[in-house]
Amino acid sequence: MTDLRTHAAEIAEQFSDHLDVSTDDVEERLERLVSEYRVPVDEARRSVVNSYLDEAGIERDELGGGAGGNEQTLLNDIDQDEQWVDVRAKVVDLWEPRSDSIAQVGLLGDESGRMKFVSFTTSELPELEEGKSYALGNVVTDEYQGNFSVKLNRTTSITELDEEIEVGDDSTAVEGALVDIQSGSGLIKRCPEEDCTRVLQNGRCSEHGNVEGEFDLRIKAVLDDGDEVHEVIFNREMTEELTGIELDEAKQMAMDALDTTIVEEEMRGDLVGYYYRVTGPTFGRYVLANEVEQLGAPTDAEELLIKARSM
Ligand SMILES: [Zn+2]
Repeated sequence: MTDLRTHAAEIAEQFSDHLDVSTDDVEERLERLVSEYRVPVDEARRSVVNSYLDEAGIERDELGGGAGGNEQTLLNDIDQDEQWVDVRAKVVDLWEPRSDSIAQVGLLGDESGRMKFVSFTTSELPELEEGKSYALGNVVTDEYQGNFSVKLNRTTSITELDEEIEVGDDSTAVEGALVDIQSGSGLIKRCPEEDCTRVLQNGRCSEHGNVEGEFDLRIKAVLDDGDEVHEVIFNREMTEELTGIELDEAKQMAMDALDTTIVEEEMRGDLVGYYYRVTGPTFGRYVLANEVEQLGAPTDAEELLIKARSM
């Protein structure tokens, strides 16, 4: 069978319950798009499927994924909208659905990372249990503002697995010389309003105005590997581990000096010029440090920068 013929056979099979459509009909439509209009095969396939959906008056999720079966996909490899895939994943987390139309919503995880999933009430699927691992056949990928998720639908097959799927943490590791500590590091105050935690600027929260802040420790650092710079955030726990300065001690330092910025200065003196390897998840442009390891001996920061840039 030619490639187009294979596609045509799959599409005809998908619609066999809904329309009287032959493989020849489908192939003819595909052929016209691909040969006459130079449409790429994937796009032609999508377009033909859409037109049959219109003819049948059904939604995409009422349709099977095709007789040929889908590709077994790792969550982290999903990078296209509206693909039919099979995944093997563990239910890492279940959230409270915000709408009656949603039966379940939560996080799936596999060795490559985590991804949101949704199943709809109309699909009438058996419920997934948190902590259990499943083979999920025929799920559809979805993209919203660059974030991917998978949708379970009425054709999805759910098989509980005996083995437990190992869930990766999709963290990255960066290493380099710590060349700068950004403002807003050291001893900071955060807004105490619930779920706010914004860092106060001169006692003001940008959302809640003047508030009695709560002290915290944080470092926003820049690591330079000679090729790229990485911005890394150390939370209180990681800052304490990295600097050996605990929150109470930092408060005492600030009180003695009548100046909170002394803590940042002290940390700058302790850290700039050293090489570190930092591991953690990424959030926007930041790496959130979960682990930190000092590499090698200290170097003069200035010398280091020059060397790094010449590499
Ligand atoms: Zn606030």
